[in-house]
Amino acid sequence: MAKKITILGGGESGVGAAVLAKEKGYKVFVSDSKAIPAAFKTEMDNLSIPFEENGHSLDRILDSKEVIKSPGIPDKAPVVQAIRQQGIPVIGEMEFAFRYMGKSKLVAVTGSNGKSTATSLIYHICHTAGLDCALVGNIGFSFARQVAVDPKAYYIAEISSFQLDDCKDFRPHIAILLNITEDHLDRYNYIFDNYIASKFSITKNQTADDYFIYCDDDPVTVLNLDKYPFFSKPISFSMKKTERQGAYIKDEEMLLKVKQEEVRMNINDFALKGKHNQYNTMAAGIAASLLEIRSSKIREAITSFQGLEHRMEFVATIKGVEYINDSKATNINSTWYALEEMNKPVVLILGGVDKGNDYSLIEELVQEKVKAIICLGADNTKLHEAFDKTGKSIVDAGSMEEAVKAAYRLSEKGDVVLLSPACASFDLFLNYEDRGKQFKSAVIEL
Ligand code: ADP
Repeated sequence: MAKKITILGGGESGVGAAVLAKEKGYKVFVSDSKAIPAAFKTEMDNLSIPFEENGHSLDRILDSKEVIKSPGIPDKAPVVQAIRQQGIPVIGEMEFAFRYMGKSKLVAVTGSNGKSTATSLIYHICHTAGLDCALVGNIGFSFARQVAVDPKAYYIAEISSFQLDDCKDFRPHIAILLNITEDHLDRYNYIFDNYIASKFSITKNQTADDYFIYCDDDPVTVLNLDKYPFFSKPISFSMKKTERQGAYIKDEEMLLKVKQEEVRMNINDFALKGKHNQYNTMAAGIAASLLEIRSSKIREAITSFQGLEHRMEFVATIKGVEYINDSKATNINSTWYALEEMNKPVVLILGGVDKGNDYSLIEELVQEKVKAIICLGADNTKLHEAFDKTGKSIVDAGSMEEAVKAAYRLSEKGDVVLLSPACASFDLFLNYEDRGKQFKSAVIEL
């Protein structure tokens, strides 16, 4: 008899897992505590996959042999606890897809910031070089759906700590850890070490045939290297040390040396601007070299890459004021990098759902570069506590339109208005994309 598998969550990752499970002959059931988008319901109907929405019926779930859970569902959710109490194994969609990817090669990118950017850049390099590859994870198809409907020789995957937590045998041939800074602590009992352990678990099944790429300038990564032993070959990137194997930037030049292949490039030729993106580009370049992509192709792709929406995205210049959408900055570290890159006076729009931010980390940059702050959150108390003392103009806004209008008033020719919230968006917006889109339309309407 077919093995029964239940999938918790009817989003792209859950439905992708359902499609793959169905193809592999499982008896599949999908259950979501909220409403499932219509397109996914139609798809499941067409494939005769039973599902339920707006609640979980435990009796239908607890007779499963295995459960695949969406990364958004925390372990402490009652339904997950009930499943675990029965001893039913719980895995994530990435793990499930990995099980069926066969002999294909997997590159997996994790880190607190830069995952989507680096993953997309690696994909762009592989694609430019003509590799049979797919970009999977949070952008485009879920990994499972890709494996089910259009398998490839190479998968370039973005993987978050939540997704790593639901992995068992997941083993990337190339694992990349971009950086580790405090984020999502609410899901880790507010213990930073738990989150660090999650990030390092990307290496846990790697063997001596695999590679682990990390940032030599990232203090948390470097401090913890010995604590989480791994067997893969380490290769690092840096702007402070001249790495023998790996990548470094010195005097505006990147030198990338992996095995015998060398790539030299002036950083002004990188399509992606800003210091954080120089790190992302080094990581991506190492991965591409390990995949034996020729240096000419790597150079070509690094030069031609188009950045992603909502990440330091230029929106418009209005009356001499530049508007930049960095809505994806949902933690303090990405806002730090955004500010660091600014060379004009900044009107900063920040705020939202605070995930435990320590605003003192950006205090110096705010003092130096910011002329006014617009607090855009349902509760701005913490922002006022942190920034009232700076003596900068601070105003509250209850909507994006209000925030952009205030920014318009507070800025003058030669300034830049930067939306880089350092917070999640769920208090006033559907998600960071919605926040970024609302920003862009409010700017265009000015
Ligand atoms: P993720 O997928 O990890 O959330 P993104 O590539 O979507 O990362 O970028 C998220 C935010 O972090 C953006 O504001 C971006 O400008 C910033 N960012 C990108 N790369 C880095 C990096 N290496 N270090 C710090 N911040 C970064």
